[in-house]
Amino acid sequence: MPSAPKPKSFAKKGLVLIPWAAYALFAWAFMHAPEKPALLFSLFLPLILWIYHTHESALESPSIPWLLAGYSALLIFIFFHPARAGFADTLSLILQWVIIGACAVMAVVQFDELQKEVLITRDKTDELSKAVKDKTKTNDFYRQKIPALKSKIGERKRLSTDAKEMGTLLDPGLIRKTLIEKVQNLFPAETVSLSPSVTAATAATAGKSSISTSLHSGKTLMGTLRVDSAARARFSETDMQQIEFYASLATLALENAKLFSEINALATRDGLTGLATQRIFLERLAEELLRGGRYRTPVALIMADIDHFKHVNDGHGHLAGDQVLKDVSQIFAGRIRPVDLAARYGGEEFCLVLPGLTLQESFGLAETLRREIEAREVLTGSARLKVTASFGCAAFPDDAQSASQLVRKADERLYKAKSQGRNRVINA
Ligand code: GH3
Ligand code: MG
Ligand code: MG
Repeated sequence: MPSAPKPKSFAKKGLVLIPWAAYALFAWAFMHAPEKPALLFSLFLPLILWIYHTHESALESPSIPWLLAGYSALLIFIFFHPARAGFADTLSLILQWVIIGACAVMAVVQFDELQKEVLITRDKTDELSKAVKDKTKTNDFYRQKIPALKSKIGERKRLSTDAKEMGTLLDPGLIRKTLIEKVQNLFPAETVSLSPSVTAATAATAGKSSISTSLHSGKTLMGTLRVDSAARARFSETDMQQIEFYASLATLALENAKLFSEINALATRDGLTGLATQRIFLERLAEELLRGGRYRTPVALIMADIDHFKHVNDGHGHLAGDQVLKDVSQIFAGRIRPVDLAARYGGEEFCLVLPGLTLQESFGLAETLRREIEAREVLTGSARLKVTASFGCAAFPDDAQSASQLVRKADERLYKAKSQGRNRVINA
């Protein structure tokens, strides 16, 4: 017997049993027909053993070839024995019984083996079906999780695109509008509001349940975001987290927008006077000349320079000089229309871009400004100062065709005003 039988198919096992059964049947038949030569029957055994041996390599045992060899020797001995007939008959009878017994034992052993294998197979089948059941359970568990996971992924995607979108906005009004839109998308059936303070929204949109969060930039309250529902206990902890997330997105975007406008102002506005910088002046002048050329309208330019400004600095200090610059700038800014532009061109030089104004009209404005500056008492820490300024006027298209020509013309006239004694306007 092999110590660990290889698993075999039923068909193969059955095939092996067939010659044994056939042999048993033949043996029985021959025993009841003594007139048949017993030797002929005996020759049948090696054949059976050979078939068995070749088909059942798993039950291969060293005794089988020995048995075959011994049996063959016995047959040869019988065949050559002088008293062969009677001797052979007796021996053959004994052998037949031995063989029948061996057949029975082998058959029992075979069935026993077969049964064991059936049991092992059944156990394995049970094990496998249990494993399959377990796997199915696990699969079901994960399958149930799929919709929730999918919606979580969708939610994350939406949060990330919304975050990107809001991060690009630079207009505070648009940021507030977008915040309301996004939160409204989250709660389509509810009322979303964004108020500048905590109290304002409460009375207006009070529902049966609500969540709210504030938009804080440092200690400054920038607004209160609120979602109201007509249903009771409508909101969950997750809802709260979501509006908080959107509120912080909007807060970041608002801070970003504020920084942007500050930086933008720094680049476009002069820090001391608040007037436009030289870069903005040149850009604007070029734009206005293009427009003037297209619509055939004049564009006037006034250039002004404070007279003897060095004396102010030398006599009263740099801070007093700064105050003069601020006061003069105020006068310019206060006199121009929204369509005009007042710029600080350099140290104490100023430019006014005046779309639609003729040379004569700009002269009138420059005269007004000159008189106003002359009349102004500038209050500095230590004194009341009085200054004057000189002006040069030029206009497109009569005096110049391009921005640089126009600047040169106005500058020439400004210096003409200086050379003619200062505190005057020159337009020719
Ligand atoms: P003029 O009548 O010929 O124009 O004489 P001016 O003294 O006004 O002319 P100048 O160009 O010689 O002097 C300009 C002075 O303006 C020199 C500079 O120190 C001063 N200045 C330029 N920028 C500033 C500023 O931002 N603040 C102060 N306080 N002074 C400034
Ligand atoms: Mg000057
Ligand atoms: Mg100057």
